[in-house]
Amino acid sequence: MAVLEIRDLHVSVETDQGTKPILKGVDLTIREGETHAIMGPNGSGKSTLAYTIAGHPKYTVESGTITLDGEDVLAMSVDERARAGLFLAMQYPVEIPGVTVTNFLRTAKTAVDGEAPAVRSWIKDVRESMSNLRMDSSFAERNVNEGFSGGEKKRHEILQLELLKPTFAVLDETDSGLDVDALKIVSEGVNRAKENTGLGVLLITHYTRILRYIKPDFVHVFVAGKVAEQGGPELADRLEDEGYDRYLSDAPVA
Ligand code: ADP
Ligand code: MG
Ligand code: MG
Repeated sequence: MAVLEIRDLHVSVETDQGTKPILKGVDLTIREGETHAIMGPNGSGKSTLAYTIAGHPKYTVESGTITLDGEDVLAMSVDERARAGLFLAMQYPVEIPGVTVTNFLRTAKTAVDGEAPAVRSWIKDVRESMSNLRMDSSFAERNVNEGFSGGEKKRHEILQLELLKPTFAVLDETDSGLDVDALKIVSEGVNRAKENTGLGVLLITHYTRILRYIKPDFVHVFVAGKVAEQGGPELADRLEDEGYDRYLSDAPVA
């Protein structure tokens, strides 16, 4: 069974004022098929964790490990991470001028699998996933992220998730900027991937709303760069009622 393990992870970022420590000892174990919600106040380091897993060059791992089935993820290039089965939906996806969604998806699939997908079944899979996500077929001919609405960007992320079939997905603020209908469609896509491929999910969110549609097995509260508390789904219910104040009141003043 596939397992993604994060051990005592310390990460800093280079700023104009110098090196700033952000993650201060993160421990997490995610197994295939499990959904872990990372919740926490703004600035607690949630996105930093996502970028670090993805291999963003701005974030420096000072100590600790990330392994996928025992393999050292931190030693892998960004492409190698994707080939190893990691998927990161970026919080602010970039525009790729002149590259259509169709070409982008085929290129990504080829890169991840190490061979081009068989044309007929691929076209069928793309159509089916787009229809599942209630995307108009004309979307396939648009340039990636150019003029995409917030909802279109999220659907495009989930389209990639469905087609690339990663082992683990890190979804950072996938709920932000979605109305309830779009949120349901996007959540259904994630749930399909969980059912069909046993996807493990690290679902990063400030708000509990998305957890009504994507049920977490475990909830981790992130405060000041580390996990302050963990529990089951009931922890998310409590956060919905109480917010994050109880964690912040005894946090040291920066
Ligand atoms: P969250 O996603 O929980 O809101 P982030 O990981 O985005 O938290 O940010 C954690 C802290 O690290 C914040 O204080 C933020 O300002 C700082 N930080 C994150 N990325 C950078 C960066 N590239 N440059 C400077 N500061 C950063
Ligand atoms: Mg933030
Ligand atoms: Mg964030």
